[in-house]
Amino acid sequence: MIEKLIPFVDLAAQQEELRPEIEARIRGVLDHGKYINGPEVIEFEARLAEFAGAVHAVGVSSGTDALIMVLLAKGIGSGDAVFVPTFTFPATAEAVLMVGAVPVFVEVEADTGNLDPASLETSVEQVALSRLRASAVIAVDLYGMPADYAGIGAVAERHGLTVIADAAQSFSAEVNGRRVGTLAEVTCTSFFPAKPLGCYGDGGAVLTDDDNLAGILRSIRVHGAGQRRYENVRLGMNARLDTLQAAILLPKLTVLAKERDRREELAAKYTGRLSSSMRVPVIPEGIRSAWAQYVIRVEQRDRVAAGLKERGIPTAVYYPRCVHQQPAYRALAQDADFSTAEHLSERVLAIPMHPYMDAQTAEYICDSVLETVRQV
Ligand SMILES: *Cc1c(COP(=O)(O)O)cnc(C)c1O
Repeated sequence: MIEKLIPFVDLAAQQEELRPEIEARIRGVLDHGKYINGPEVIEFEARLAEFAGAVHAVGVSSGTDALIMVLLAKGIGSGDAVFVPTFTFPATAEAVLMVGAVPVFVEVEADTGNLDPASLETSVEQVALSRLRASAVIAVDLYGMPADYAGIGAVAERHGLTVIADAAQSFSAEVNGRRVGTLAEVTCTSFFPAKPLGCYGDGGAVLTDDDNLAGILRSIRVHGAGQRRYENVRLGMNARLDTLQAAILLPKLTVLAKERDRREELAAKYTGRLSSSMRVPVIPEGIRSAWAQYVIRVEQRDRVAAGLKERGIPTAVYYPRCVHQQPAYRALAQDADFSTAEHLSERVLAIPMHPYMDAQTAEYICDSVLETVRQV
């Protein structure tokens, strides 16, 4: 038996390792007092862009604000249709509504739960018959695994759509050696504490190689500021990344690649032990997931979760409902087949995944999952 409680995500273990550096960085901010747009923000943006291999990283207040800002920067609003997978965190669709555009929900792939390019094509053709303009697609890298940007990009090119990556769950993932941040023309990510790269509050970033877009985003994050002081040239927001959060993110970024390797090792262990008894994540050749979550699919999910809880193992469900089924979004849902997304929403179950899990705990979790699934 495992004596201490098993955390779903162990932020305390990471903090223990990085605490002296994080404290020194926080002290640095308290000493210079530049709480807004301080030197740590500039340093972090440079390091983040370098990590991803992107030209620009713009630090912002959250992953949700990152999405809203990109839509604003692209001039997307009333009359525009923006395609989003229905199996995602609601912020993806929320951002679209927030700028006055219409989210068009799209079916997902059965294997990955990510946006399905063929369904995107069908949805775009349907929108073409309506009064809406098909303007953009927001692809989500569910659980840390990048969406099919090649497939989505081909559809987008045919129909003139902007491709926006919602990489809130996938920072540190890569496709054929290219990291998240460079897989779409613009990438949004989140530093919510439990994400693969998390701060100690809210934060986010937008990554792009487009100089013009980066400039507009830097303006939008301070009320649409122009070149001159007190000049406002466009509608903007207050959406900056705090200096203190940048200070906390700097040491965390230095261990992200190592943490991703450890998550990958844990995922390999889980897959090795569990794959003959249940459906486990499938990661195609050439892709390295950020492993924000390790998600199994089980029948009788609630009973499996209850059995694991009895054994001291926390689980989570991302997501028990598709966005088109949510009360706030239901009325918008087009008449389309979302049976794959709905099937997933009834079966997915995330088990503990973080870079600081010891081998004994991992084995205990595998034993318990196998036992519980057998019993229900
Ligand atoms: C977490 C998340 C967001 C929102 O990020 P915040 O920083 O919490 O605003 C958006 N999209 C997806 C897919 C997410 O997982």
